Amino acid sequence: MVIAQCKNLIKIYNGTQDFRALDEVSLSIKQGEFISVMGPSGCGKSTLLNILGLLDEPSGGEYLLNTHPTSQLSDAGRTELRRHHIGFIFQSFNLMPRLSVLENIALPMRYTDMPRAEILPRARELAKRVGLENKLNSTPLQLSGGQCQRTACARALANRPSFILADEPTGNLDSRASADILRLLQELNQNGMTIIMVTHDSKIAAGTHRTIHMKDGKII
Ligand code: ADP
Ligand code: MG
Repeated sequence: MVIAQCKNLIKIYNGTQDFRALDEVSLSIKQGEFISVMGPSGCGKSTLLNILGLLDEPSGGEYLLNTHPTSQLSDAGRTELRRHHIGFIFQSFNLMPRLSVLENIALPMRYTDMPRAEILPRARELAKRVGLENKLNSTPLQLSGGQCQRTACARALANRPSFILADEPTGNLDSRASADILRLLQELNQNGMTIIMVTHDSKIAAGTHRTIHMKDGKII
């Protein structure tokens, strides 16, 4: 089952000189896949992920999410879809520094209509799933990079997304923590989660099902 599909996506950033960051990118993502995206810096990887994540809109082409076109959505509609369908993991973790691990994981659920009483129990269960049951009350500054990224992985799962987008999730981690996060993502994938991950590391990419190579805004 195809859950996300890009058809001839174009992204032009307008500036003093227009820049074509995506040049007719077509891609189908099937339920259960673990895809890595590689390519030199500036080739459009983050631009593609931002469009897949409804954080940005293409200048041309169409992006279908669960077969629904996304081009006519209102901002509120995009936010709602993003909240319920997409989990994000970033290179720099993007955790709230003053919130505990438990509250960071719970945060996305607080923006939904999930019954209040279910939020912390689910956050606890997710923390356990990523091996942080002993760090629930720690704040990000008290954690290693690998533990921060585990927290971010649990947070990405909070609203039971259709897929997870990870933009260089191991980019700030040493090789041991990187291998550890790759194992965690593989485990989530084996349990059914679809994952699209940008990486510079061919060893990390080798741990996924298929690798997409990009250059100059195109898939090659
Ligand atoms: P990658 O993630 O592969 O390193 P990006 O998708 O971030 O590449 O960027 C692709 C190209 O688009 C780069 O040349 C970058 O400078 C340019 N770019 C990215 N975001 C913007 C923006 N908001 N405004 C103008 N140019 C941008
Ligand atoms: Mg990038």
